[in-house]
Amino acid sequence: MSRRNKQLPLLEQVEITDAGAEGMSVARVDGLVVFVPFVVPGDVVDIQLYKKKRSYAEGRAVHFHRLSPLRVEPRCSHFGVCGGCKWQNMNYEAQLDAKQRQVRDNLERLGHVDCSGMRPICGSDRIFEYRNKLEFTFSSKRWLQPDEERRDDDPGDVGFHVPQVFDKVLPVQWCHLQPEPSNAIRNFLRNYALEHGIPFYDIRNHTGFLRNVIIRNTSTGEWMVVLIVAEDKPEWLLPMLEELNIHFPELSSTSHHPITSLMYMVNNKLNDSYSDLEPRLYSGQDYITEQMPRYNGGAPLRFRINPKSFYQTNSEQAFKLYSYVAEFADLQGDETVYDLYTGTGTIAQFVAGMCRKVVGIEYIEEAIADARLNAAANGFSNCTFYAGDMANVLDDAFVTANGKPDVIITDPPRAGMHNKVVEQLLRIGARKIVYVSCNPATQARDLMLLSDRYDVRRIQPVDMFPHTQHVENVAELVRRD
Ligand code: SAH
Repeated sequence: MSRRNKQLPLLEQVEITDAGAEGMSVARVDGLVVFVPFVVPGDVVDIQLYKKKRSYAEGRAVHFHRLSPLRVEPRCSHFGVCGGCKWQNMNYEAQLDAKQRQVRDNLERLGHVDCSGMRPICGSDRIFEYRNKLEFTFSSKRWLQPDEERRDDDPGDVGFHVPQVFDKVLPVQWCHLQPEPSNAIRNFLRNYALEHGIPFYDIRNHTGFLRNVIIRNTSTGEWMVVLIVAEDKPEWLLPMLEELNIHFPELSSTSHHPITSLMYMVNNKLNDSYSDLEPRLYSGQDYITEQMPRYNGGAPLRFRINPKSFYQTNSEQAFKLYSYVAEFADLQGDETVYDLYTGTGTIAQFVAGMCRKVVGIEYIEEAIADARLNAAANGFSNCTFYAGDMANVLDDAFVTANGKPDVIITDPPRAGMHNKVVEQLLRIGARKIVYVSCNPATQARDLMLLSDRYDVRRIQPVDMFPHTQHVENVAELVRRD
């Protein structure tokens, strides 16, 4: 803690009242809103402030007077340091309540939305091992506990970035978010590297070899491992991948290769982003295949996932989320549907069997290529996909060329929809809009703008990410005639 912190006051015997934005909990002291991490509503604590502005402050709980009945013992040994699961010490019901309130508060306060049609949040059956993808970073600098000193011969470790610290990683021994052998694979790579003197990357000085590993799996038991290294050095890379295959002999349900898809990328850039790198195949195939039940039964939909494809991270909840979209869209068979921000076209394909045609738009070209492949493989001939920026693509000429939509499904990124897109939706005037959002604040803003022509009917929050503050929300908007 810095010297500056000591000059800020200690707030004594403060009751935590809410679980708020960014995973911080909230207390109110004499009109000041105080954000405190890793505490639970109902805790009574002494708070040492470390940041104070006019209307809010941030602080740390330094002494506990009462522990909240909403508390549970966090399962993870990294809780409190790792930025991933800030709510793991709060029982799941309380997490769901907090998310429901977050959606309602945002829609009512920021969007002036009538929330009488809001249903109880749909929780996740699995609250651990629900993710199908994790990305870990190798770093020559381990994040140290406050009482630890850095040793010159410390080789570093593999794990997650500590929030706000770009060059150090929290060594992860066990993460409970992805099923096994996710941990076994990561820990194997760490141990192999340490035993063979293969250096972890130093992102400040740009030395070292191992940079990142992406581990993905499907509900059908396929596994993809993508190792990202700093240079093309076969004498280090190839034996390591070979050993990985030997150690995980059982991992492919569909091919004779041990790991369904074992790939690597060479990243000699200064930053860690891999969207512009070329994936190379070491063994197996260059994709894995996820399955999702169809809304109306029948053979499941199949989605090819390559190393850079987006796929909803919690597969079981994605099915529920899409089912609410289909329920709200209430398609009768003859509609033209637009699926905006379609990604790899998963929602488009989920509803394609229930309407006349679907038009998907998305700006990542590779995602659109996947969408086309997947739609063809799933037997849909009524899906058309376009790549481009929504604000430019979705103009009057586009609507004339593709047909006026009866129903628009929109699933924008956290920033919400560009103002031009909202204006275009108002001009198009589809009978119904189904708005899927991962950020209730921007959804509230967009719903307020859309209220010129649309009433919000049903609202369905969905929890895709237990133990985090994130929440997904589906809203049904009906045109006023
Ligand atoms: N509906 C999809 C993906 C939603 S994520 C699914 O359920 O899988 C949001 C998507 O919006 C991402 O794929 C992102 O690439 C895309 N996107 C973000 N900004 C965009 C823009 N300005 N124009 C078009 N697509 C955009």
